[in-house]
Formats: sequence, C-alpha cells, structure tokens
Amino acid sequence: VKLGQIGEFGLIQRLSDGCLVRPDRVIKAIGDDCAAFFTVSDQITLVTTDLLLEHIHFLKDATSAYNLGYKSLAVNLSDIAAMGGVAQEAFVSIAIPPEYDVAFLDEFYKGMKALASRFNTNLLGGDTTGSKHDLMISISIVGSVPEKEMLCRNGARRGDIIFSSGFLGDSKAGLSLIMNKQEILTKEDRYLLDAHVLPKPYLDEGRVLAKSNAATACIDVSDGLVSDLTHIMEQSRVGATLFADQIPVSEPLKSFCHKHRFDPVSFSLSGGEDYTLLVTVSPEHAAGICETYYNVFKSPLYRIGVITDSQVLQLQHPDGTIENITASGWEHFKSSNDNV
Ligand SMILES: [Mg+2]
Repeated sequence: VKLGQIGEFGLIQRLSDGCLVRPDRVIKAIGDDCAAFFTVSDQITLVTTDLLLEHIHFLKDATSAYNLGYKSLAVNLSDIAAMGGVAQEAFVSIAIPPEYDVAFLDEFYKGMKALASRFNTNLLGGDTTGSKHDLMISISIVGSVPEKEMLCRNGARRGDIIFSSGFLGDSKAGLSLIMNKQEILTKEDRYLLDAHVLPKPYLDEGRVLAKSNAATACIDVSDGLVSDLTHIMEQSRVGATLFADQIPVSEPLKSFCHKHRFDPVSFSLSGGEDYTLLVTVSPEHAAGICETYYNVFKSPLYRIGVITDSQVLQLQHPDGTIENITASGWEHFKSSNDNV
C-alpha cells in the first residue's frame, strides 16, 4: 500500500496506536492541533532535537525500517541521558519519498515504539509529509531533570577521573561491516553490527550518575571518544590524559581489529556513535560511584583517564610515553564512509 492511498487521517490512525505509554500529565496526545502536557514541576525541562537525512546520516538499503526507527529515537534519548535526565515526550516528523510504502512506516514506528515504551516515553505528535527525493527524519524529545542533578559539559576539574559507561569503537566496526557489505556469519560480527544499528541509550545509567552528585561533567559519545572528550575539555577549560591500556575494547572488536590489522586503541579513540556516557567524577567520589554503579547495573564504569590542567589531550602508553592528540589529528582514522 502506497502512502497516497490511505490519506493523512488514515495514516495518523494507523500509527498512533501504542504511542501513548504514560498517560499521566498528558492532556492531548496525537489528534489535536497541538500536543498538550504538564511538564514536571520544580524540575528543569530538557529539549533535544536531531535531523537525520538519507544519504547523509544513513542509507536506507543498509538498514531495516525497524532499526532506523529504533536508532533515530535512541540517539535523541542518549542526549537526555547525557544530561542525567528522564525522557518524557517525543515528537517525530518525517518527509517520505513517493516510492516508500505504508509497511515501511509501520516498521519504522514499530522500532521507535519498542524503545519508547521501554523508557516510558510517549510519542506525542509530529508531522508526516511527502518528499521529492530523500527520506528525512526529525525527532525532538522533551525530558526533565532536578536542577541540582543536571549533568553538563563544563564542570570537570583537574584531578577528576574520566569514565566510560561501556565499550568504545564497536559501532564503528559495525558500520565498517555494513559498508563493506560483509556477510554476518559469526556471533562477534553480529554483536558489532548490533552496536551500530541498535545502540543502547544509557538513560538509567545517566540517572544513577546524576543522583550520585559525584559526577562533575558528562557527554554521550556520538562523534567519538577524542571529539567528545574535547568538548568537555573546552567547556570546562581543562586538559585530559587518557590511558591507552585502559580504553575498554570488547573481545569482538579485538578480533575484528586483529583480522583487519587495525590498532584497537586507535580504532576505539576515533570511533563514533557508541552512545556510551563519558563522565568525570571527583577523585574522592570515584570509588563510591563505581561500587554503586556496579551494584545497580552489574557492569563496570571503565576508568579511562584523568582531567589535567594542561589544556591539551594526551594519550599515555603503558611504557610511559605520552603523545599529544587532537580531534582533527584522529580524523584520518575515520573511514571515508563515516558520515554515510
Ligand atoms: Mg550528545
């Protein structure tokens, strides 16, 4: 069934089912001129928005509609996680080329709804329109965070410990498998592929870090460890040293790098779209937050470095040698396909 055949009203009816998962505070969901809802009183309202364009941010033929819906929402949820917030309402606008059919939209929404319901987030509205050429997806999320718990990029201080909430570089390896049209045969390749197409938003983890009051700065890893840590450094006016032998590299990524003769540390530093949280913690709170975090998630916070007052980013190797690194200096590790 082509989109033109069911009309706008039919489409709204079809897609709105299952969009409202948390009706409290919502006065009007999909179907009126505006969505209407109460924000959480006494909390800061967070708003994040993202625009995804076919051929720029994704290739339609390299992913499924379900995965595209899931990931489009996941990357926005990740920004709420990086501020320590809870996601509440999502708004989704799509411009669709004529050759797409209703089944594509059904699957796209199925992927979004699966993730939205897991994080108690309503899909509260948006717009659907025709596009002459490419598919365009715009998602906005409204969330909230208590004022005293909000995590920002500008609070890191000299001596703070830098942690990552998960492995780095997996997503980039997954993208490489897709771009090279590699058949997915092993469990390892499947894991790397999933890291790219079905990234985990660290919302629950962000809340635990925010509530601890131990985190001084936080960002989610979208562009890559070096790029995103540089954002914290710039906004906090500090430097940082990363420990090469402590960058968390998954076993599947180690095999991948071995097979393709990549240096796993370089690969992890320059990878993107991992959507792990990069968080800085004052040294006196580091042990406590690691223990709390492990007890809740049964997964460690990986200690990867320390904040310095050098104003530069350095990589310390196990033999003690130190090299200065810059975000642009690591661009050459990025494949030419990174933005596809
Ligand atoms: Mg972000």
